[in-house]
Parts: sequence; C-alpha cells; structure tokens
Amino acid sequence: MTLKDKISPEEVAARRRRIKTLRLFIQILILLIINAQIFGAADTGFPAPVLYPAGAPYTVMVGAYYAFEKTMTSGALPFLALGVIFLITVVSGRAFCGWACPFGLAQDVVGYAPTKKKRPDRIINKDLQFFAQLFLFISIIIGLYVGWKTYKGTDADVREGLGVFSDAPFAVYSPAATLFATIPYMIGWYPDYDDPIAFTDFGILFWLRLLFLIAILYTVAYVPRAFCRWFCPLGLIMGECGKYSLIGLSRNPARCDKCGDCEKVCPMGVRILDYPYERISDPYCILCMDCVAACPKDALEITFNIPKKSSEKK
Ligand code: SF4
Ligand code: SF4
Repeated sequence: MTLKDKISPEEVAARRRRIKTLRLFIQILILLIINAQIFGAADTGFPAPVLYPAGAPYTVMVGAYYAFEKTMTSGALPFLALGVIFLITVVSGRAFCGWACPFGLAQDVVGYAPTKKKRPDRIINKDLQFFAQLFLFISIIIGLYVGWKTYKGTDADVREGLGVFSDAPFAVYSPAATLFATIPYMIGWYPDYDDPIAFTDFGILFWLRLLFLIAILYTVAYVPRAFCRWFCPLGLIMGECGKYSLIGLSRNPARCDKCGDCEKVCPMGVRILDYPYERISDPYCILCMDCVAACPKDALEITFNIPKKSSEKK
C-alpha cells in the first residue's frame, strides 16, 4: 500500500469486525479464567486490574479495586493492589479495560443495542468524571478512617455506624458487584456464598443497587462505555497512570489526512487528532484498536512509547 492509497470501506468494515470479534473472544476467555473455579481451580485471592467483586461465584481472583478498599479498611496499606494496578498500567495503559474487564465486556455487549449512539464532547466527558473522582475520594476517606480505627482496635463503633459501607464502600453500589455477585446470589446460583458485603436479602439496598445497574446499562446503550468514562474509580486511576504507559497509540503524519474516521468510532470519545502524532496519551483510551482498524489510511498503530516532548501537533 502506498501512502496515497485508501483502504476500501468494505475492507475497513471487515477489519473492524475482526478486531471486535478478537476482543470479544479474549474478554470471554478472561472472564472464564477469572471464574476458573468452574473448572475446579482454587481461589487465589490475587488482585486483577479489572472491576470484579470478591463475592462472585467461582472467582479465583479479586478485582484490584475491591482489594484496594478491603485492605485499607482492614488496617493495612494496599501495596499489592496498587502495585498490580500501577505495574500493569505503566506497561499497557488501560488495555485491561479494553480487553479484560468483565464489566467492560458487559458494556460492550449492551453497546450492540441498535440505538442511536451519542458522542458527548470532551467537556462533558471531563465534567462527568467527577463521579469517578467522588467514588475514589469516598473509598480513600472511609478506607483510611476505618483502617486507622481497625489498626488501633477501636473500629467497632464506626463499623456499626457505617454498616455495609465500612468494609469496601464502592463495592456496595458498584454495578459490577451487583451484576456478577449479588444477582447470581439472589437467584440462588451460588448456595455456599460467603457474602463479603452482606447482601443477603431483597431489602431496599438491593433494589437501589439494581436500579443503579439498570440506569448505567441504559446509559451505556446510548453512550458506549459510559461507566468506564464517568463512574469507574479504577478506570480513573488507570487512566492517569496510562498516560505514561510503554505501549500506546501513535499516528503516522505521512499517512494521516485528518479525515476523522478514527474519532467517529472511538467508544471512549478520545479526540485522537488533538494529540501529537507520536503519542496519543489520552487517559480515556482503552487500547481497543477500533480506531486502528477504522483508519482507511493505516495511519494509526500500536507502538512502544517513550514519553518525550512533542515537536509536532495536528
Ligand atoms: S473503566 Fe472500570 S469498568 Fe471500565 S473497563 Fe476499566 S476497570 Fe472495567
Ligand atoms: S483512541 Fe482508539 S484505541 Fe483508544 S479507545 Fe479510542 S478507538 Fe480505542
């Protein structure tokens, strides 16, 4: 292919289909690996950098964000959970969001709904990320406070006062926990459930959680990956670290004619053309590769990035 050649729309569509199928396959494979108790594997309790609850049936790993909260409220510092998040993200950015996270998979599946998709602009994206920041703030404040009390052995009162929020606050309203742990438990799929967040009846909290999950999935049907953009505190942490990741996206200036086809397909609303050619270091990018497949000039590619000062823009 010469620099002037364009890939035909049919070939672009076929490439996008192939990459989506591959991603779906890997997402399902990882969901099975996370739930390897189905195949008789033992629970390792090891944190995985995805949003997944500890109480899910058959899980052999625990979502790193749950481990982060739970370790803090137990009176320890969450070095392991944060270490896993940082290490994975520094190498591969938010690729785990794009290719591994079970709740990312759930959103991608809902995203297939034949609805007219909206493309919130950068300002809305940034403003609504306030929710993820708030959730992270709540986790840290409660985690440090309960953790300190636990460390001193005086946590009984505060735990009684905070109730279910004293253990892992985000897990209480996380739609991933509702979808993958609470609902399977409520429908009796997991009789020996060791409920880590104490949802054992159809009380008001259950219905509120269900409502939140439905509201999120409804939004996702119109705004792809809305939860990952605006609500996920783990995605927020990974997005900030991911800006400096080794693996990232770059754009070839000799090929790119700025047609914008890449931006149109991006599920996270990344403004690819606003970034320097050599590095698209957007905290929202989940390295899903849809833009790479959609570019008719083959201008985008996954590269190893060494962050440096940009010389060339747009
Ligand atoms: S942003 Fe959160 S929910 Fe979305 S894929 Fe990443 S870890 Fe999963
Ligand atoms: S910029 Fe490309 S790789 Fe990143 S999320 Fe958007 S479409 Fe996916």
